[in-house]
Amino acid sequence: MAYEKAVYDRVHQLLSQRRRAAFEEQARRRRECYERCPRLAQVDGELRRTGAGVAKAVISAGADRGELLEGLRQRGAALAEEKARLLRENGWPEDYLKPPFTCPDCQDTGVVGNRRCHCYGALLRQVEAERINRQSGLRLCSFDSFDLRYYSREGRPGDTPFEVMGEVLAYCKDYAAHFGLHSPNLLMMGATGLGKTHLSLAIASQVIQRGFSVLYGSFGNFVAILEREKFGADRQGDTLASLLGCDLLILDDLGSEFSTPFAVSTLYTLVNTRLSAGRPTIVNTNLTFAEISQAYTDRITSRLAGSYVDVRFVGSDVRLAMKNGL
Ligand SMILES: [Zn+2]
Repeated sequence: MAYEKAVYDRVHQLLSQRRRAAFEEQARRRRECYERCPRLAQVDGELRRTGAGVAKAVISAGADRGELLEGLRQRGAALAEEKARLLRENGWPEDYLKPPFTCPDCQDTGVVGNRRCHCYGALLRQVEAERINRQSGLRLCSFDSFDLRYYSREGRPGDTPFEVMGEVLAYCKDYAAHFGLHSPNLLMMGATGLGKTHLSLAIASQVIQRGFSVLYGSFGNFVAILEREKFGADRQGDTLASLLGCDLLILDDLGSEFSTPFAVSTLYTLVNTRLSAGRPTIVNTNLTFAEISQAYTDRITSRLAGSYVDVRFVGSDVRLAMKNGL
């Protein structure tokens, strides 16, 4: 999918930061090495002069050019060997004076030949994830920090909140681990503070790490952004295209927004278009099906009831709101 221009800008900024850091570290290592082994400074200086000599000889047209070049090359090889030996003898790795690039494949340029390096794609995903974090006002969560101990073990055996939520947690983990474009849509239902946001952010985190594009945000927030883009001053963005086109869309907190005809039609567009395109969506809501019908029409309810896997969150302990509700 296409990312916003700001995302590409940030990736280029990160790449140049990496390059700069690699060269700064190289300069620091030079100072360290030259101080402890002054001969290394001389060898490096001679290597530079030999390199310059080679360049001059290559463009010269003298009769002794071949001989001159051969002599310089031998001199260069001997110096390189001495340099490696000096580094080794002083306990440094042989490549210690080369810039320590984060990605040696492209030397932190993001480009190999005329193609994008693999690190460029990874950075795009990382920056997009950061943008999603900022938008949702939350840090991405992990499954590990989801604590089942806060769910009650009281009730019918096999049906206690602890057991039911253990199954929900296992289902969400499996969903994230095997996410693909054929994954089902999920409708996470249940009262506030039972962990819907936590588990959907944990899914988002893992799915992003696996290389998919994920957009996460409260439905009300997305509606506000789309409304500004459609009617307001901010007509630059194309958030709708991103929402429709990303691999996984997570709409948090459906039902908390101010209900308007625009919100209703937006929800229908998102749900219906993504269904037809076969792109998975996760919807979180505190509403029941009856309340969804009332707020968003039967047409949307029948889509959600018919094409989404219904994941029920249960529990009642108030500590849950503090622990997993975020
Ligand atoms: Zn690279």
